[in-house]
Amino acid sequence: MQLICLGTTGFHPNARRHTASLLIPEAGVVLDAGTGIFRLADYLATDRIDVFLSHAHLDHTIGLTYLLETFGVDAYDRVTIHATAEVVHAVRTHLFAPALFPVAPGYQFKQLGDSCELPRNAAGDFGTMTTFSLKHPGGSIGMRLEWPGHTMAYVTDTTATDAADYIESIRGIDLLVHEANFPAGHDELAELTGHSCLDKVARIAAAADVGQLVVTHVDPLLTKDEDFDLHEARSAFPNISIAHDLLAIEF
Ligand SMILES: [Zn+2]
Ligand SMILES: [Zn+2]
Repeated sequence: MQLICLGTTGFHPNARRHTASLLIPEAGVVLDAGTGIFRLADYLATDRIDVFLSHAHLDHTIGLTYLLETFGVDAYDRVTIHATAEVVHAVRTHLFAPALFPVAPGYQFKQLGDSCELPRNAAGDFGTMTTFSLKHPGGSIGMRLEWPGHTMAYVTDTTATDAADYIESIRGIDLLVHEANFPAGHDELAELTGHSCLDKVARIAAAADVGQLVVTHVDPLLTKDEDFDLHEARSAFPNISIAHDLLAIEF
């Protein structure tokens, strides 16, 4: 299966990256709806989408206001937004408040619990998602996605530590897409803002014995990927890459 990185930064877009959004085209599964979701129409392979939100922060949800050109007012009901009750409430009442957005789209909203079924992939198999809580101001949830023979997890907006209790939730998966907003050595800032440093994320990948680690939600103020010391991180976990917009990953 293939995952397309529609947006790979957080906070705000920069010249090279849009904010958090991932797409599994063959299943119509979208993980987060940051500014990168404006690219959706060019990559979508289904006539409907299921959008799963990690949390309500604007860098993960603002793109829900961008889907008119992809679906149009007559087909808004082909968009289903899955999120916790609190996030659904925040999106409906704040993001789509009449003073902010003129006509609330007719999306379907579904409350996301501990697990749910995922749409069929190209092989015709349904998948499953299991969710787990992450430590972040306002809360966030991590997601583990499985189709027969294909497993991945998306862990964003949290502070990775050696004691992270979600390590068991992602054990043994093929692909871990984990945020590392900061290079190693910014632990105080990471703790303050609820984000992760690369060295800690590499150690999580090693502890969970995942197949590969792709780092996303890269600080938009970093001007080049070399700001991340991959050599050092690879001493903890060798199979690491830094995501960039429109990167396609097989899992
Ligand atoms: Zn974020
Ligand atoms: Zn956040």
